[in-house]
Amino acid sequence: MNKLIHIFKLAWAYKIRKATKLPYPPYQYTIEPTNVCNFKCDFCPQSDPEHQKHRPTGQLTVENFGLFLKKRREVNPGNKNINFTLDGEPFINKNMIKFVELAAKEGLFSRFASNGSLISPEKADLLAKAGPFVASIDFTSEKNFFETIRSKKDNYEKLLENLRYLIKKAGENKNVNLEINDITSFAGVDPEESLKKLKSLFDKNLPPNVRFTTRQFHNFCGHLDLKEKEKRYRLCPYPWTQMAVTHTGDCVPCCRDTSARSILGNVFEDDIKTVWNGPKYRQFRQNLIDKKPELNSACKDCDLPYSGGGSKWKPGYIYRSLLRR
Ligand code: SF4
Repeated sequence: MNKLIHIFKLAWAYKIRKATKLPYPPYQYTIEPTNVCNFKCDFCPQSDPEHQKHRPTGQLTVENFGLFLKKRREVNPGNKNINFTLDGEPFINKNMIKFVELAAKEGLFSRFASNGSLISPEKADLLAKAGPFVASIDFTSEKNFFETIRSKKDNYEKLLENLRYLIKKAGENKNVNLEINDITSFAGVDPEESLKKLKSLFDKNLPPNVRFTTRQFHNFCGHLDLKEKEKRYRLCPYPWTQMAVTHTGDCVPCCRDTSARSILGNVFEDDIKTVWNGPKYRQFRQNLIDKKPELNSACKDCDLPYSGGGSKWKPGYIYRSLLRR
């Protein structure tokens, strides 16, 4: 389906009709390489000792990823993006580079969030050959803060070295695109000053495919107690736009549901369309339309519907970010 027609149908169903049965397939797909992580960052549910008890840990197999690609192609041949994100550090899965390569063979552009610790220079070389990607990597200029918040000693220099190499690689190879996110704002410091300090760790002449941003934090379905909650309710767009899939094929409503609290079907067992418009997905959307997020296990404590009237709710911003995908 043409991208603009897809966005128009999506906007009509979400904003105007508030439909629960959707006349289009998911616009974005996220699949989880693994739900295991080698870091335990304070801002992430992985730091909760109970987190791994919600569902078994494991890895996406190459075979199941191939099955997912096939099913996705059947319903959405024109869509060019794929996200390898949900829970866990993607490079814990030894097949991560293979996934990027398989996605590239389908004409897909990969995106993933990684802590960067496992993307050694050797892996960065292989990744650059595998296909085009955007890696979103969290970092900070403050070594002590890094070691405290991420519960990791002796990783700061290694990660800095990996990032410097990735930036060099981005200058040589257009397949490599980077977003380096400053997490220091989690400690309440001035984000602009902090971002300047972070940039100063790297070469001044950055290639255009490298971007620095300040990480925006959300509460991960109740994991964090963020104070800025407002009363006004806004309809969350995710169940109208994206399908997030765990390494076992379970569909969850969005990439914030890392514990898979709301399982809406399984795409390794059923067709994507069957799950997307199945009774569980439709009831999930209806609960949000009825302003009853508490009826959805995932949404019960999520801050997104109450996250204020910032730029991310403006139609222009939503439209531009959908077009970029
Ligand atoms: S309200 Fe929160 S948990 Fe529910 S679908 Fe939206 S982002 Fe996900």
